[in-house]
Amino acid sequence: MKEITILGSTGSIGVNTLDVISRHRDKFNVKALTANTNLDVFLDQCIQYKPEYAVMADEDCASKLEEKLKKEAPDVSILAGTDGLLQVAELETVDYVMAAIVGAAGLLPTLGAAKAGKRVLLANKEALVMSGKLFMDTVLQNNAELIPIDSEHNAILQILMSSGLEYNIGVKNFYSKTIKRITLTASGGPFLNYSHNKLSNVRVTQAIKHPNWKMGKKISVDSATMMNKGFEVIEACLFFGLKPDQVKVLVHPQSIVHALVSFYDGSTISHMSNHDMRIPISYALSWPGRYKLNIKSLNNDKFNNLTFFEVKKGQFKCLDLAFKALKMGFNAPTILNASNEIAVEKFLENKIKFIDIPVIIRKALKYVPTKKNSSLSSILASDELTREYTRELIKKI
Ligand code: NAD
Ligand code: MG
Repeated sequence: MKEITILGSTGSIGVNTLDVISRHRDKFNVKALTANTNLDVFLDQCIQYKPEYAVMADEDCASKLEEKLKKEAPDVSILAGTDGLLQVAELETVDYVMAAIVGAAGLLPTLGAAKAGKRVLLANKEALVMSGKLFMDTVLQNNAELIPIDSEHNAILQILMSSGLEYNIGVKNFYSKTIKRITLTASGGPFLNYSHNKLSNVRVTQAIKHPNWKMGKKISVDSATMMNKGFEVIEACLFFGLKPDQVKVLVHPQSIVHALVSFYDGSTISHMSNHDMRIPISYALSWPGRYKLNIKSLNNDKFNNLTFFEVKKGQFKCLDLAFKALKMGFNAPTILNASNEIAVEKFLENKIKFIDIPVIIRKALKYVPTKKNSSLSSILASDELTREYTRELIKKI
């Protein structure tokens, strides 16, 4: 029986994780669930799963939850704020931590789980992008197991394991002895092939309606700008110890092939599945084995119309900016992530246009100073400075 904490249980990944776990109640016990403000969904989850701990980042919501749970599930301990998140990520009795909070808010508990040597199922890519080397060092120094949840990276891990390679996530130059290149596929989002003119008028409702995946709002916008793919390129370099020019992006609107690994012997192996996040979640939970997951399997008729397009330089500005940040090194990805978070938040509030997002991030990368220091305090300071800079910049738009 494995004990699991789910950080961000009310989100799209959190709900899918609980779905997979409910099929394996004999293998997993939900030790802790966490949420921010979604009281209704969280209350139902607490009543259904009866975790030992329930954490709400928002203190007012935590008080309301306590009141409501008194009758229905009096044994659940309610915690609040970042301290509460950190506490359940580090609990000694916890084996697995699903890191599914969106954005930089997930950094401290996810890092805490790594420090405590847990199996970290990493969906919260922003936490990894903003803390890069610090995060990977923490994983390696504390013998944590880092399993990617992003479908592309999870697909790569499946390919590597199926090819008989050892698990060595985060070890620089380990996989690059065998792997020449990896390719991440991208659906291209809802605005693939839109002209600049057409893009300048897109609305929030259009941007959060992804053609293939049902996801939280922030990652949906990131998918529409292709910053999500940019983050995934950074993620891939960190996970698999590769150089930026070893990671390629291929537009594949059907989202059936998730990633391709090209080996030095001339073989390229790909991973295919329906676009359903329960598949990578199940693999991360079962790794190195596989569980039975009774969901719709991939039918051969899906192969009739699979298409792939090379990404042209300049086609996706946010993707180019992510490559730029990766090549700038130091804490440039921290600046990339923080300015993107603020820009996306303001776009969702209808304060800026969709096409303003890359313009803002480009400026932040240019004007916020990059630092060599990769300590946690330096990362948090840089994150904060970038947020202030970006907010001021947006006021002037
Ligand atoms: P979501 O918006 O649906 O859910 C986010 C979760 O984080 C919620 O439970 C929310 O309560 C919690 N949260 C938000 N702000 C918080 C805060 N300040 N403090 C504490 N908790 C907070 O997002 P999602 O689509 O589930 O994505 C979660 C993460 O997984 C993101 O980093 C995303 O990039 C990544 N991811 C998602 C998908 C997907 O298919 N949805 C795929 C790959 C990776
Ligand atoms: Mg992905």
